[in-house]
Amino acid sequence: MTPAGQHAPELRAAARHLGRRRFLTGTGAAAALAFATNLPTAGVAGAAEMDAARVSDDPFTLGVASGDPQPHSVLLWTRLAPRPYEENGGLPAERVTVHWELARDPRFRRVVRRGTAPAHPEFNHSVHVEVDHVDADRTYYFRFRAGKWVSETGRTRTAPPAAGRTGLTLAAVSCQAYHDGYFTAYRHLAEDDVDVVFHLGDYLYEYAVNSVGGARKYTDRVLPDVFNRETQTLDDYRRRYALYKTDPDLRAAHAAHPFVVTWDDHEVENNYADDIDENGNPPEEFLLRRASAYRAYWENLPLRRPQRPTGSDMRLYRRVGWGRLAQFDILDTRQYRSDQAYGDGAHVPGPESLDPKRTITGASQERWLIDGWRRSRAVWNVVPQQVTFSQRKLDLNPVAKVSMDAWDGYAASRARVLAGAEAAGVDNLMVLTGDVHVGYAFDIKDDFDDPSSDVVGTEIVATSIASGKDGAERPANWETYMKANPHLKFYNGRRGYVTVGLDRRQARADFKTVSAVTTPGAPIVTAASFVVEAGEPGLRPA
Ligand code: FE
Ligand code: CA
Repeated sequence: MTPAGQHAPELRAAARHLGRRRFLTGTGAAAALAFATNLPTAGVAGAAEMDAARVSDDPFTLGVASGDPQPHSVLLWTRLAPRPYEENGGLPAERVTVHWELARDPRFRRVVRRGTAPAHPEFNHSVHVEVDHVDADRTYYFRFRAGKWVSETGRTRTAPPAAGRTGLTLAAVSCQAYHDGYFTAYRHLAEDDVDVVFHLGDYLYEYAVNSVGGARKYTDRVLPDVFNRETQTLDDYRRRYALYKTDPDLRAAHAAHPFVVTWDDHEVENNYADDIDENGNPPEEFLLRRASAYRAYWENLPLRRPQRPTGSDMRLYRRVGWGRLAQFDILDTRQYRSDQAYGDGAHVPGPESLDPKRTITGASQERWLIDGWRRSRAVWNVVPQQVTFSQRKLDLNPVAKVSMDAWDGYAASRARVLAGAEAAGVDNLMVLTGDVHVGYAFDIKDDFDDPSSDVVGTEIVATSIASGKDGAERPANWETYMKANPHLKFYNGRRGYVTVGLDRRQARADFKTVSAVTTPGAPIVTAASFVVEAGEPGLRPA
């Protein structure tokens, strides 16, 4: 849902972008400007049109997807790539007209809308179609056609109307390192009965796939040598998306459910913070890389027009409503954050990490979040985002180390957000998190250091789809973490995903895991289930 009053932040983002541009120098500035200005506006092509009849191989190798459901609108996605690992996906740098259809049934007997959309070479022949004026709270089926080629059929759904009270089941996923294992969890998710999937980041990893252990070592997935370099250029990022998206299990999940996506660090570079990378490159150089990464992200994911990047900036934080039942405030804790304190890693809290000037959201996003809570009428206020929100002590020392990359490293930011939630009188706060490659369930405490203080919300951390290889049900530090953090109610180190069912009375979280990802075909089991009653914060085993 487009947030009301979004203009001010957009203007601020534009002003910020100008500031950035001024900051750039020499060839960097020229290239960044080229990124910002060479984009055609929708429907205005920069390239000549190619007759779709000339597409001689199946161009739908990367599947179909849908995203960001609204009550009367769906967003449909595909990308044409007959030879996905080649430049331009094996197509000439020409525009292709793609036909699309939306129907009430999977056999397309009751088509409710059809139309055409241009696949621009400037956007790597991706197609983003926003179909408006459709019925609220309905399942739809869609497909694309280019020349004689017809895509697989996707299924999607619209959100309930603003006053609707329909329940929903969401899935939360994150961290899909292709080089660490099979996407078996996605195969199960494709068959699971969920309304919408929230992707919480690390959709891909930038690493040279063989230097980090490699697909060849842990699975029998064989990768062309072109993937054995770290992604730096636009071409690298586009090709990496092509690699991931040719995975049949990921394709099946996208075809089965709409996704609402946000990124973490690896879509660009490990643990970057705003314009600061890991390797000490000058910010103006890193921003060129970030512009390529953001652009490839937009091209390859089912995102709406307001999310389309301008140079190295992309407005990814946004709001999705589910009637009166839920408001989803999707955050971006990477693009605007202060640099990690104490050089990142694990560190005891100190003046640097506790500095009230530090922010993980940036000031605009923080204001937008709290303003949105003030206006919320939803039973559940859910915040899909990246890194662990609750305090997580990593050892049993009197003053324990915490992660400088998570909200623990931005304690003042967390305090402002929790104070904002309280001041807004927000009901039933639930944070959804990825990043750490394990499943957690936390009670969010008013004061994490005081076990008797109030529970003010719930944090559900989704384990990885594949990152970290098979994992273990009880990782080596399980006892330490459970002891050091009494508000931590569940910790499991297997791969998988979480489903969260929401209705007016209750939230129910099911942590679903697979026993292995380094071999294909593992079955899925529910490792644990918890419920939270509306109006009564605090996790209970189901
Ligand atoms: Fe990850
Ligand atoms: Ca991460």
